[in-house]
Amino acid sequence: MRCSIPLSSPHLTADDIHGAIEVLQGSWLSLGPKLPAFERAVCDFVGSRFAVAVNSGTSGLHLCMKAADIHDGNEVITTPFSFIASANAILFERGIPVFVDIDPVTYNMDVSRIEEVITPRTRAILPVHVFGRPCLMGEILDVAARHRLTVIEDACEAIGARVGGKPVGSLGQAGVFAFYPNKQMTTGEGGAIVTDDQNTANLCRSWRNQGRGKDGSWLQHERLGYNYRLSDISCALGISQLRRLPGMLAARAHVAAQYRELLYDVREVIIPPPLEPAAEISWFVYVVRLQNEYTREDRDLVLEKLRSRAIGCSSYFTPIHLQPFYREMFGFQPGDFPMTERVAERTIALPFFNQLSESQIQYVSESLRQIVASLKPRRFLSAAGL
Ligand SMILES: *Cc1c(COP(=O)(O)O)cnc(C)c1O
Repeated sequence: MRCSIPLSSPHLTADDIHGAIEVLQGSWLSLGPKLPAFERAVCDFVGSRFAVAVNSGTSGLHLCMKAADIHDGNEVITTPFSFIASANAILFERGIPVFVDIDPVTYNMDVSRIEEVITPRTRAILPVHVFGRPCLMGEILDVAARHRLTVIEDACEAIGARVGGKPVGSLGQAGVFAFYPNKQMTTGEGGAIVTDDQNTANLCRSWRNQGRGKDGSWLQHERLGYNYRLSDISCALGISQLRRLPGMLAARAHVAAQYRELLYDVREVIIPPPLEPAAEISWFVYVVRLQNEYTREDRDLVLEKLRSRAIGCSSYFTPIHLQPFYREMFGFQPGDFPMTERVAERTIALPFFNQLSESQIQYVSESLRQIVASLKPRRFLSAAGL
């Protein structure tokens, strides 16, 4: 069924479109002047020395795993509560994702449990700033420094978020942003690696472009590379979207504030909790969660009923360790990461984008309030002997 209020929607203005058309009218559709211009804009926004634009967030994460020299059997500590690409990037290089369960309040990796899974084979930590809420990077960087581990930030959902005033992506050895149309800003498809390390930037530039050398010719390949290039059409879109990003983030924060206002007293759901004093969120999605006395079946019923009212919604995420091929490769079972599973079974992502109107937010909130009020919590059912 087609939802009349979508779950997400990119916001493209006439300026954005004009920028892309300008490229189409010129003669540099790829590797032209928009690529370095976009990379400079990303550097300025994040305050990093280098940015390497790539054709997806996933490619960016893959190249960061290579730059961190992850290979056969190296362990990388990450979260099972994420979009699958974060852990897949480790598998691309035959590394082993070592999952740490989440903090059920923030939905980010529980930093207090990182140290206990470190082994002699651990090489890196890959924290994910889930739903745009930054991880407590100070503690992650401390553990990493004590054990000489590389930190690569998956900031694909969090461009613009900050910890202690510092933009996410700039805190570890490298960070990755993604620009798929459901993210805070888009280039159609696309991503960017940011780093202060010259060597990482040089290597990523070469891998992105078929292993070509810095000044080498088109047919000289210094190493095994990929085609992870981002076209100038996408870069033009990125330049103009990035210019508008502060405004778009403010609009998203306003939508989140309206949801909070309308939903904080709905006792069946938990809304996104307040942030730690040092953290600034970049709103990616607005995800509420049913209280623990409700079940996955209740949540699925809520999604179905929202959709029947033409409201786009989703269950973010299916835990990575329970995806079929992870279960097959590593023998994961339900119950392995209880906090992740408890949260994942109950999440409801509501329509969320910067142009969502006040009346749409009201309609969604009122619908959710009515639908969850009709649920029967499990403890009442069991009290009745059902
Ligand atoms: C979107 C996303 C990615 C990957 O982005 P693509 O551009 O779709 O490849 C990686 N990690 C997380 C957490 C994401 O949300």
